[in-house]
Amino acid sequence: MIQGSGRCHYHPERTGLGICVECRRVICRECTTQFEGINRCASCLEKRLKALDGPAERRDWTVGHVLLALLGAAVVYGGVLLLANMASGL
Ligand SMILES: [Zn+2]
Ligand SMILES: [Zn+2]
Repeated sequence: MIQGSGRCHYHPERTGLGICVECRRVICRECTTQFEGINRCASCLEKRLKALDGPAERRDWTVGHVLLALLGAAVVYGGVLLLANMASGL
């Protein structure tokens, strides 16, 4: 059974397949974007991504910081292992 909910808001010649959760407009397959597992039209996704711009930068910095800490820990761990190997080799 085809959902005859109407036509795409952006493409009147196309059959609407989904509804944007933000603006509740009927959108076609090409206009449907799945972000975080939620259907949004292209313009609402753009708005969403713009809203995420600020925190994303901060998150990147945190990821870089964590990686740096992990790298430091790995270097320390490697050094300890090396020392242990040298000690057991003697
Ligand atoms: Zn929308
Ligand atoms: Zn469309």
